[in-house]
Amino acid sequence: MYNPHQQEVTCIVCPVGCKLTVVRDEHEPEGYRVLGSQCKRGEHYGIKEVTNPTRMLPTTMAIRGTHLPRIPVRTAEPIPKAKIFDCMDEINRVELEAPIKIGEVVLENVAGTGVDVVATRSMERVTEPLAVHGG
Ligand code: SF4
Repeated sequence: MYNPHQQEVTCIVCPVGCKLTVVRDEHEPEGYRVLGSQCKRGEHYGIKEVTNPTRMLPTTMAIRGTHLPRIPVRTAEPIPKAKIFDCMDEINRVELEAPIKIGEVVLENVAGTGVDVVATRSMERVTEPLAVHGG
């Protein structure tokens, strides 16, 4: 039966994938009790997942001046799940210019989250089109 004071969450911190039950409990220091976790990391994850769920955001951005049209990027830290669409919207409005180095910040403070977006591979500048051999 649905209980507004508890939520079922699957822990994704490690491959064990414990099924957690996060229960509202005023007597706990953080206001919640976590059942079913095998470690402290799971307890922390369970509480965060019901209070402020966050995710890493791996995606790609448009780039010009190189041999591919898009470059893989990700957020430097997890961002609030509720901000994912705003972040994608901002990321999709940017076009980068090669060269870009791996780890370089390509977009600061995406969607006001305080988190930067970084490149996850380097891309050299290529001014000549790739040679086509044949015939
Ligand atoms: S609670 Fe601990 S053991 Fe279980 S999935 Fe989460 S991190 Fe892994």
